[in-house]
This record gives sequence, structure tokens and C-alpha cells, in this order.
Amino acid sequence: MKPDELLALQARIQPLLDDPEHAGHPLREVLGEVWQLLEEHVERLDRLTHLSDSFQAMARDRERGMGQRYERQLRRINRVVRISDHYQRMLRDLNTQLEEASYRDMLTGVDNRRALMSRLQQEVQRSQRQSTGFVVAMVDIDRFKQINDAYGHEIGDLALIEVARALGADLREYDACGRWGGEEFLLLLPFTSLADAHGILQRKLEAIRALEIPGLALTGQHLSISAGLAEHRPGEPLTLTLSRADGALYEAKRQGRDRIACAAEPQ
Ligand code: GH3
Ligand code: MG
Ligand code: MG
Repeated sequence: MKPDELLALQARIQPLLDDPEHAGHPLREVLGEVWQLLEEHVERLDRLTHLSDSFQAMARDRERGMGQRYERQLRRINRVVRISDHYQRMLRDLNTQLEEASYRDMLTGVDNRRALMSRLQQEVQRSQRQSTGFVVAMVDIDRFKQINDAYGHEIGDLALIEVARALGADLREYDACGRWGGEEFLLLLPFTSLADAHGILQRKLEAIRALEIPGLALTGQHLSISAGLAEHRPGEPLTLTLSRADGALYEAKRQGRDRIACAAEPQ
């Protein structure tokens, strides 16, 4: 029932109840009781409506509060995700750099022994699959200790850098050149005969002799290298190829240095 309908009804009933003329009339008694019951019900309904409104308002407030809290948390999570993405990218870049660095020689920037070993192993597998060999050249700077002793370690380092550059220059894309350790370098020449490798190394010997190393050039002294060549035969253990190249290098040194020696074929 709407409030104005109730008011209109009251306006009609109240005068009837108040009128002394109807006092004692049985219908007046009943009407009075019905009217009182109705008023009590309306009051109860009012209270219920008020309660329900309060609950709804509370729920709305709580919802709004939760919404704001949820959005704040979402913003916080987004920020953390952005930071974590940033760090993950940094870590990935750092890992790539470390990976690359672990295959480079710090001083000369060429492949280090680890990188060379990995390439050599790949080449051994390829040679087995295709039944073709490759040539390994073990290169060592002659009397390098004297260079260090006479001109100092820094000039020695400079000489190593220049030798690495000269050895690596003008190689084919699939050749490899790296620092094996100390003043020793290794060249890996796939699809090359021993005779062709000899020609390549001969040109390297000449290039090294022609190097102008600051400090050494002042005294007219030049560097020289010796090289030992070994041709890997499919199926031969890599260690054997390397030790044959080492043996040939030893032979080149024994014969007077600044020269190339070739290892005999494996037994
Ligand atoms: P050989 O002709 O028989 O090879 O004589 P060598 O003096 O070159 O050989 P030896 O093995 O006696 O000396 C190698 C020298 O190389 C000694 C060592 O101090 C030097 N060396 C090794 N690594 C480096 C380096 O990174 N920097 C410098 N400056 N010298 C190095
Ligand atoms: Mg040496
Ligand atoms: Mg040496």
C-alpha cells in the first residue's frame, strides 16, 4: 500500500473511530482492531524496509571499497610484472653475453680453446658423415719468451693481438682460427688438402714476418711462427689428430723454427 493511500484511508477511518455516536457499536470495535493491526504491520514493514536499505547501502560501500582495493592490487601486480620482465630481459642478455664471452679469448678476441674444441668435434662428426677430412694447423710464436723478456709483457700482449689478427685474416667462412693457449694458435681448415693447407700457412708465415709491432719495429726485430699440420682422416680420434699436429710443430721447431712441418699419415 502506498503512503498516500494509507493517509486517505486514515482520514476516513479516524473520524469514524473518534465519533462518540458510534461508541459501543460492534463494527466500531472491529474497525478499531483492524486499524490498529494495519498500523502495526505498516510500522513493521517500515522497519524492514529501513533495515534492507541499510544492508544494501553497506553492501554497496563494501563493494566499492573492495573494487578500489582490487584495482590497487592490480596496479601493484602490474608494476611487479613489469619489473620482473625487465630483470628477466637483463638476465637473458647477460646470459647471452656470458655465453659469448665464454667462447672468446679475452686478450685477442678470437675463439678460445673451448670454442675451438667444440668446432673440432663438430668437424670430426661431419667428416665421418661425409667421409672427407680436414686439416689442423698448430701454430706457435717463435722464441716468444725472449720478446717478453726484452720488450715487456705489454708489448708481448700487443704481439699476440697482432698475430691473432693476421692468422684470422682472409680465411674462408667455414675455417676457424683461435687461441689454443699461451702463444699457441690453432687453425681448422675443412675441405682442404694438406698441400693447400701448406700454401695457406706459408702465406701466414710471411704475413707474421711482415708485422710491425710497436717496440719491436724500433730495433728492426720481427716475429716469426712455426706450424705443424695434420690432416684428420675420417674415423681417426680427434686427440690423435691433435697430437700428430703437435708432433709436426715440434719437428718444425727442431728444424730451426719459422717453418712448417707436416705430420705423416696416421698408422
Ligand atoms: P719456442 O720458440 O720454443 O716456442 O720458444 P718460446 O719462448 O716461444 O716458448 P716458451 O714456451 O718457452 O715461452 C712461451 C712464452 O709465452 C712464455 C710466456 O710468458 C709467454 N706467454 C704466454 N701467454 C702470454 C700472454 O698472454 N701474454 C704475454 N705477454 N706472454 C705470454
Ligand atoms: Mg708454446
Ligand atoms: Mg713459442
